[in-house]
This record gives sequence, structure tokens and C-alpha cells, in this order.
Amino acid sequence: MRFAKPLAPGSTIGILGGGQLGRMLALAAGQLGLKCHIFAPEEDSPAFQVSAAHMVADYHDFAALKEFARSVDVVTYEFENVPGDTAAFLEKLSVLAPSSAALKTAQDRVDEKTFIAGLGIPVARFAAVNGEADLEDAIARIGRPSVLKTRRFGYDGKGQSEIEEKTSAAAAWAEIGKAPAILEGFISFNKEISVIAARGWDGAIAVYDVPENQHENHILRTSTVPASISRATAEEARDMARTIIGALDYVGVMGIEMFVSGTKLIVNEIAPRVHNSGHWTQDACAVSQFEQHIRAISGWSLGSTARHSNVVMHNILGYESDNWADYASRSGAGVHFYGKIEARRGRKMGHINVLTPRQG
Ligand code: AMP
Repeated sequence: MRFAKPLAPGSTIGILGGGQLGRMLALAAGQLGLKCHIFAPEEDSPAFQVSAAHMVADYHDFAALKEFARSVDVVTYEFENVPGDTAAFLEKLSVLAPSSAALKTAQDRVDEKTFIAGLGIPVARFAAVNGEADLEDAIARIGRPSVLKTRRFGYDGKGQSEIEEKTSAAAAWAEIGKAPAILEGFISFNKEISVIAARGWDGAIAVYDVPENQHENHILRTSTVPASISRATAEEARDMARTIIGALDYVGVMGIEMFVSGTKLIVNEIAPRVHNSGHWTQDACAVSQFEQHIRAISGWSLGSTARHSNVVMHNILGYESDNWADYASRSGAGVHFYGKIEARRGRKMGHINVLTPRQG
């Protein structure tokens, strides 16, 4: 179904997924006078705590999905592993944003890289891998070091194996669980950056300033804005984001992860959703990525992406959340907790945005 007219305050947004991203989307929607209905399989989903309604059901429970679709004015999602048939089903019954076609491209690393390379934007050299023999051929073509990743369902470094000088194809293939995969040339990068971009139903595009991202054990640790890259490189990154989001006919917020290698930018992946490296926008911009996504999918005009402060976003991981009172006592920092009860190792429990006066 296509979008008809902007949703008035009082309308209901359906969100698939009840994690922290769904929760922060619901909080932003609430500020705009919109209600949220969350659909998620886990009983204790953090987004339920701040939403008008929720439904606990499996993503393949089509009767439940039908009831959900009928109760909302637009459907969106907070994670990229929404099953394709679920997205297509909801798109027939309601308005889905981002579309199932955009989701499909972002879900499969081979389709994603083929699409981005087709726009003339640099990506790592890559080859599709469907078996051990394929992998041997791909290593011969792409060389070592390289990175083997599952085509689908990978996140925070899961489903990845580095192919080093002595790694055997058999070991790497076993390590990723013998699932359809992609082999990528290893990029020796100086920095990792990302771009948070939004596009509305009318085709308007808004792009935030560029954060520099630091990871620890493949999990995002900090995002620092502005990134210490030249103005020209930042503009090039933002232009690449505009090209990608426009070409996908995308509606909503997207995160685009990139490597900076020398003076060259290489796109790693796109996330069809609000993104952890965009959390700083909550406290350093008038309109956060969450509000921007709600505005975009609801047919509202996009908000300003102007940044009023420099900012470092620190993720609060696992048992670090036990120090909640310390975080809360830091003046000048925006404190965000996700309402998760159990602090497992590495689990994203919250974040703080530490602001300083804007420079650059
Ligand atoms: P991904 O799951 O694609 O976001 O990858 C997780 C992390 O692994 C990235 O943030 C990089 O630090 C690293 N990585 C992924 N792909 C490559 C690559 N082709 N070359 C070098 N490092 C990579």
C-alpha cells in the first residue's frame, strides 16, 4: 500500500521489534502526539514499557500480524532481520516504511554490495560463496587477508571469520556455520565513520553530521562528532549517503557504515533503520534520528539536522549499568537507559551523550 496523507497527531505507528531502538522511536513518537503499537516475540521487550499497545507474537504468526496491521496507520521496524514474507504481508495490508524492497537489499550482503557498487560507490572487493570449493576459488581471486561473512543475519561481528595467511577454507567455512556467505577483501582502514540519513515520502533528504565510530569486540563503544576527517571527506560521505537513500526510493532513517582508508571512502554496509551511531543526535540536535524517522514515515516534513554541540556518545554495556548513578550525576551529559532488567556481558543497556561547545 502507498502512503496517502500525513498522519495527524493521535494516529498510531506500528513497530516490529521491541528493543531499545523501538523504545526510543516510541518515545520520540510520543513527543509528536503519535501513539505506538509494538509487535515483538519477547514478553519483556523494553519498548513495551513506553508504548500505548503491544502484541507478543512470532514474526510468522500471520493472524496476529493481520490484527496488528489493522490497528495501526503505518508499519515500520527497528531491526533488519524482519523475515521477507512478513514484510511483504504487512505491505499488502498497511503502509510499510522502509519498503520491503529496500529491506531485501539491505538484508543480503551480496545484493547490498552489488547495489552500492552499481551506483559507482566504492565497496570492498567481494565474491559470493556457497560452499568450500567456492571459498577456495574466491580466496584465490580476492587474496588474503580477507573476511568471510554470512550473507544474512550477521551483526556485531557475529557470522564472520577472518581469512589470514594460514587459515584453511574448510576451517573458515565451518566457523561461519556453512551458511551462504560473502568473501570481502580486507580493508586496512584509518577510521570507521557512518552517515545517518533520512528521506521522506516526498523525496526530501536530510543528512546529519558524520560521526567517527570506535568498536570494541565488534560492538560500538563510542561515536564522536564531528569525526576528525577533512570537510571534503565528510561532504563526500554525506553525498554517498544521499545517492544510496535516493536510489533505494527509501522512506525513513538509514545508517550507512563506511571505512576511511587514506583519503578514500569505502561503504561497508547499510542498516535500514535508526542506528546506534546516531544516538548522539538526541542531545546534540534539535531533531533526533528517532524523531526524524517518525516524521519521515508519517509523511511529515523532515526536521533540521543542524548540530548545536560537539558530542561523544558512549555505549553503556553489560554490568557498566550498575554505575547508573555515576552516569546520572554527570552534568552536561544526556543519560539514556533502556529499561533492560538483566545486564548480560556486552549487552547494550544504555548510553550517554557527553556534550561540549561546538567547534568545527
Ligand atoms: P560488519 O558486520 O560488516 O559491520 O563488520 C563488523 C566490523 O568488522 C566492522 O565494523 C569492521 O571493523 C570489521 N570489518 C568488516 N568488514 C571488513 C573488511 N572488509 N575489511 C576490514 N575490516 C572489516
